[in-house]
Amino acid sequence: MLELENRSISYLPGVGLKRAEVLASEANIRSFWDLLTYYPYKYIDRSRFYKICEINDALPYIQLKGKITSFELVGEGRARRLIAHFSDGTGSINLVWFKALHLIVHYYKVDIPYIIFGKPTRFGSIYEILHPDIDHESNEEQVSGGLVPFYNTSEKMKKSQLSSRSLQDLVFILLKNIGGVIPESLPEYLLQQLHLLPLDEALRNIHFPESTEKLKQASLRLKFDELFFIQLHLLQKSVNRKRRLKGIVFSTVGDYFNTFYREHLPFQLTNAQKRVVKEIRADLGSGHQMNRLLQGDVGSGKTLVALLSMLLALDNHCQACMMAPTEILAGQHYHTILRFLNGMDIRVALLTGSTKKREREKLLPAIASGEIQILIGTHALIEETVSFASLGLAIIDEQHRFGVEQRAKLWTKSPVIPHVLVMTATPIPRTLAMTLYGDLDISVIDELPPGRKPIKTIHRFDNHKAELFSFLRQQIQAGRQVYVVYPLIEGSEKSDYKNLEEGFENFKKIFPEFTVCMVHGRMKSVEKETEMQKFVKGEAQILMATTVIEVGVDVPNASVMVIESAERFGLSQLHQLRGRVGRGAEQSYCILVSDYNLNDDTRKRLDIMTSSNNGFVIAEEDLKMRGHGELEGTRQSGEGLDLKIADLASDGQILQYARDLANNIIIRDPLLESDQNRLLKEKLKAQYGNRINWELVS
Ligand code: ADP
Ligand code: MG
Repeated sequence: MLELENRSISYLPGVGLKRAEVLASEANIRSFWDLLTYYPYKYIDRSRFYKICEINDALPYIQLKGKITSFELVGEGRARRLIAHFSDGTGSINLVWFKALHLIVHYYKVDIPYIIFGKPTRFGSIYEILHPDIDHESNEEQVSGGLVPFYNTSEKMKKSQLSSRSLQDLVFILLKNIGGVIPESLPEYLLQQLHLLPLDEALRNIHFPESTEKLKQASLRLKFDELFFIQLHLLQKSVNRKRRLKGIVFSTVGDYFNTFYREHLPFQLTNAQKRVVKEIRADLGSGHQMNRLLQGDVGSGKTLVALLSMLLALDNHCQACMMAPTEILAGQHYHTILRFLNGMDIRVALLTGSTKKREREKLLPAIASGEIQILIGTHALIEETVSFASLGLAIIDEQHRFGVEQRAKLWTKSPVIPHVLVMTATPIPRTLAMTLYGDLDISVIDELPPGRKPIKTIHRFDNHKAELFSFLRQQIQAGRQVYVVYPLIEGSEKSDYKNLEEGFENFKKIFPEFTVCMVHGRMKSVEKETEMQKFVKGEAQILMATTVIEVGVDVPNASVMVIESAERFGLSQLHQLRGRVGRGAEQSYCILVSDYNLNDDTRKRLDIMTSSNNGFVIAEEDLKMRGHGELEGTRQSGEGLDLKIADLASDGQILQYARDLANNIIIRDPLLESDQNRLLKEKLKAQYGNRINWELVS
């Protein structure tokens, strides 16, 4: 395997330096191994030949046998094209080219038997195939062996003669040239136990399947490999971390926790909150460093769990900090926590990018001396100048906005590595969590605080505004407040801000009797804060915003969320926004306003929103619709999820199996030292060997 992984693709006959460069930059193919694992994205059955008289509009790619009867050059300029009239005795069709016309005329001859492959489309009374694949009938054996692979290619690749078809040829040459068997990655005992195809057979069949059955088995084997080694890596990392990092032992539950719990808790914890606090307490007392992911739906009460955990740190003479992705959110946490702790003697401070210099100069020494017990803030927390006397617990809210590297900086701020609790903004699908955060322990709050009325979600087209306005008026007259959110999409910020500003002017005109305020990312933070406070204090009835309010704002009296151009938001974003309402005792509403013309995907997204309130369900649907590549947009640095064949939306069972198996192996042989696991260790080393060591504490 090492051989294949180290062998540059430029050595493959037919590649050369120029195309090697294109393969590397466009498809990340640098070695023989990279090409072998550049899997086809689909296969087309070429075992069957059609007759021209059988062609109809419903056929996808088809294969024909026949002869070119004549060529014809037609059209001018960009419309100039070459037509070959092609006949098989049952009828005739046109083969059409817009490019490389001269080469084609030169290369293909009239009256010679060819095999044509392509997708027929009807053009008037005759069918055409645009840029067909053509083979000499004598080549039949090589190309028409049943399922033909199709590879992703970019425009740039096609320009360098790296079409799907050429990639197919390259893989064919490579497999022929390997000489001997592709080395196995799984030890014999696992192959036997799992009844999987050998790697060699799987790789050959994934490109050139002997049959559909073999293709299935090959795909299973390769998916399993991919997921299994990720899990093995993550679990080993987690076990090693626990063995190596001692973690401060929080042995006591002391006055801070107990006093707060008995005297200051404004409500009963939900059972889910209680369970999670218990899990965290057990971790903190275990003598190992905690690395835990806390998942919970919007509004499930993660903040309170965070606070209780921080009090445990304080009880054990440590400091705690909480890092949030935006100033608004950090400020909100700060105020929430001050409110919770009102009447208790605890020093809490807020540090963000806009903390004034004088204030900062007072804060930094107080953090360094340990006087400040709880520090809340943004990225500002990881700046050089911040250091703690003894940071026992670091909480990271809305995790996906921070990179691994940024988080790792937090760990260098104190003499001992702190325990880490990571909280997600909205649930992420189980399979994705297992793969992205598989080295963390996971806690789930799967219950909302009692007494919440499920939010009613309604979809309206934007040509029905009058009805919407009268509904809003009625709600505000009943004492409620309303959010109106506009999308802010990268690349169209200018028109998006314009939409918001126009909307703002419009709302002021329509609701002269109410106060309308506005926040967006371009405002100065002081200004933003003032506008925000108007809404929080209830002085303004309508808050209009871009997605800046997406994260974390908590105004229980706000009961209506209007989302403008809802078709432009992703599912999890819509759900996150919806979570801003439904926090009080009143019936809440989320109104999705969209254009009348919707494509199927968008319609489906809006339907899912109106039919489910459950963030876990929505996350699964989102994964199914978009695939993990899009969803993941999360971990900006550190290890991205680069899955070549497994699909987290549909391969959940394989993943679970792979994880259980990896777990069994790691429990028995944490360092993979036994002889029978030698192969596994080597493979992990080849795949992950040169990672930086901050991984240890991610
Ligand atoms: P999220 O999980 O989205 O961060 P929050 O922590 O902001 O949720 O909590 C949402 C709201 O629910 C807050 O107003 C909070 O005070 C309230 N809350 C949290 N826990 C409970 C509980 N056990 N009972 C009643 N209300 C609760
Ligand atoms: Mg929150």
